[in-house]
Amino acid sequence: MGFDSLRTDPMKSINWHIHRNGCPHYREHWPKGTDLEAGEPLYQVFCGMNTPPASTEEQSRCLTAKNGCWRYARRSQKQPGAECEDAVFPNL
Ligand code: SF4
Repeated sequence: MGFDSLRTDPMKSINWHIHRNGCPHYREHWPKGTDLEAGEPLYQVFCGMNTPPASTEEQSRCLTAKNGCWRYARRSQKQPGAECEDAVFPNL
């Protein structure tokens, strides 16, 4: 199996890729020897803020968030007292 063990810290491991124009907290790992027919994922995504993207649309936003998390930018644009639209991460 080509996956790192659970003891690997994606934020410190050289095996986890940083995207030049992406969020500084975003990491991506493409392990060698992935067995897709066995159900192993093609690649892994890690968010150093513990709020990983939950869809390909959100992942696209992470990959262009060079100046910081788009979740916080969106929240700061909301009116005071407005409900958070992030159902997955309602505490943001
Ligand atoms: S969810 Fe936010 S903090 Fe996490 S990787 Fe994406 S942009 Fe970065």
